[in-house]
Amino acid sequence: MLYVEDNPANLMLVEDLVARRTDIRLLSARDGNRGIEIARASLPDVILMDINLPGISGVRALRILAEDPATAHIPVVALSANAIPRDIEKGLEAGFFRYLTKPIKVNEFMETLDVALRFAHAELARAAREEQA
Ligand code: MN
Repeated sequence: MLYVEDNPANLMLVEDLVARRTDIRLLSARDGNRGIEIARASLPDVILMDINLPGISGVRALRILAEDPATAHIPVVALSANAIPRDIEKGLEAGFFRYLTKPIKVNEFMETLDVALRFAHAELARAAREEQA
């Protein structure tokens, strides 16, 4: 999983939460452009994306990833302090797989990761079947 986040406190919290999960290896980036670079190089199963980032926003980064055939299949979960319903609606319209708000709710966070990982693995299995066909 790749987490794109400029706030060290949020990054540390997610590192702590994910440390309990032996099935997840966490990569991180501090801004959107670096996040895109790492996503292209590492092809993570799932991306967790802050919205308010230095340089390009999380929404812009999502669009760039979605336009790249190499990364378009990766579910991108927004994790943002922008928590009013209009923000969430806009985020989902932009194409985020799910939209989570800060502060992080541990149960919701873990469940969303599971859903996104299952989605990612189903996509990989489907791509593998198509390759064989
Ligand atoms: Mn931020």
